[in-house]
Amino acid sequence: MKYRQAVDEIRRELGDEAVSTDPDDLEYHGYSEFSTSNTDERPIAIVRPESTEQVSAIAKICTKYRVPMTPFGSKSSVEGSFSSPFSGICIDMCEMNKIVEFHPQDMDIVVQAGVNWMVLNEEIKDSGLFLPPDPGPTAFIGGMVATNCSGTNAMGYGTMKDYVVNLTVVLADGTIIKTRQRPRKTSAGYNLNSLFTGSEGTLGIITQATLKLAVLPTNLSVATAAFGSIHAAAAAASTMVRSGLPLIALELMDEEQMRSINKNGGTEGRMWDENPTLFLKFSGTVNSVKDSAKEAQAICRKHGSRTFESVSGQKEIDSLWSARKRALFAVFAAKPKDSVFWATDVAVPISRMADLIEESRARAAGYGIWNGVIGHAGDGNFHQALFYHPDKAGDKEKVKDCVDTMIERAVEMEGTVTGEHGIGIGKKECLVKELGLPTVGVMKALKDTLDPHWLLNPGKVFDE
Ligand SMILES: Cc1cc2nc3c(=O)[nH]c(=O)nc-3n(C[C@H](O)[C@H](O)[C@H](O)COP(=O)(O)OP(=O)(O)OC[C@H]3O[C@@H](n4cnc5c(N)ncnc54)[C@H](O)[C@@H]3O)c2cc1C
Repeated sequence: MKYRQAVDEIRRELGDEAVSTDPDDLEYHGYSEFSTSNTDERPIAIVRPESTEQVSAIAKICTKYRVPMTPFGSKSSVEGSFSSPFSGICIDMCEMNKIVEFHPQDMDIVVQAGVNWMVLNEEIKDSGLFLPPDPGPTAFIGGMVATNCSGTNAMGYGTMKDYVVNLTVVLADGTIIKTRQRPRKTSAGYNLNSLFTGSEGTLGIITQATLKLAVLPTNLSVATAAFGSIHAAAAAASTMVRSGLPLIALELMDEEQMRSINKNGGTEGRMWDENPTLFLKFSGTVNSVKDSAKEAQAICRKHGSRTFESVSGQKEIDSLWSARKRALFAVFAAKPKDSVFWATDVAVPISRMADLIEESRARAAGYGIWNGVIGHAGDGNFHQALFYHPDKAGDKEKVKDCVDTMIERAVEMEGTVTGEHGIGIGKKECLVKELGLPTVGVMKALKDTLDPHWLLNPGKVFDE
């Protein structure tokens, strides 16, 4: 009843066109086949605000009626972070998609939370600047900040947290705050940017952000090298990092990932060597990127690479890199009929990554479960994708055991239960395993202070 009253009041405040209760719309906002943690509940209404003030009005009404509110970007997160396990209002940020101010001289940009990162980079490309974090292609800035996302560029450019200058945030009671002004650096007070970055919509609704930009590299070269084993590929990766090569991306795909690319017809007419493969990207001057590729080739050869190919023209770069770009979609397309996808990520100190990948693959193989690994090798962060058949007795339990064991081992190796995907619903217990109750207790105290009725994205990160 109170949920309906809240929806009616939001309609009166924002207008009919801002509120949807269409069943298909509710379904769309409650489920994703990319997500490992879908729930059966759906939001009662989808609200599409156009301004910070409208978001504030929604929050005030939800607090008045004690209705859960879930901020929603492009739903590309994979741990169930955007779903609505307690129903309530889904706040879809898609109408807040404006670039508010662009300051090329200051190398920053002010955007609303519903701006897509690829659209943003297309809009500003003539300025020679770009926003480096590159998660799922559909992701919005608000979701990217809320998950502290990264992607293939993280090795050279860092993660989303490194690009936040300030945030405008609506708190649960509707209060609007701005975390700081527009300086490149500051020591003024607590770092609230960091508090909201990675908070998965549980502490506030981000409506606007000022983001740092990086200079678009003018010269790039890309190389691929296939190896006989994950360990050999990881050892080559580690040597390259230690040698100080100007790598901006260093990615690893195992043989199953490479096979799934081929199963999908390869890339642009090309079929790939089905072995663990490193994908390298360098930036620098015209000559230095070529020299870097040569140096990388020598290192890869030393570690027994079977193939090495490097290119520096833009068309060739796009072609060679396309296998890495299409990796997740290729796995998805190769998914056995009626199977369910479970993708998870962990990060460990770089020197432990190969051990954990090999262990995790062996465990899944022992169960007869298909699995493939993609690693952001330069950061010790990797994803294992597994499939199970929900109707096959014990299949899901086997996959769960694989995931749980990998996570436990990552924690034992002083790593983290998620390098970039977040906790969402799926990894709540793991957070305690990684950080311990006292640390999670501090997080809960912050949640209590900012959202005393636990209305913002309840059921995520940890329970009340
Ligand atoms: C093909 C594919 C590839 C991917 N590759 C990567 C990768 O390389 N690296 C990586 O890090 N991730 C990757 N991801 C995951 C995903 O793209 C990121 O987690 C992304 O940051 C989510 O953004 P989103 O807009 O889709 O957010 P959503 O999924 O809609 O939401 C994510 C979380 O943020 C919260 N949220 C959304 N908007 C706001 C807001 N305005 N204020 C407060 N909270 C908000 C939501 O409540 C939810 O908790 C990939 C996903 C796919 C499908």
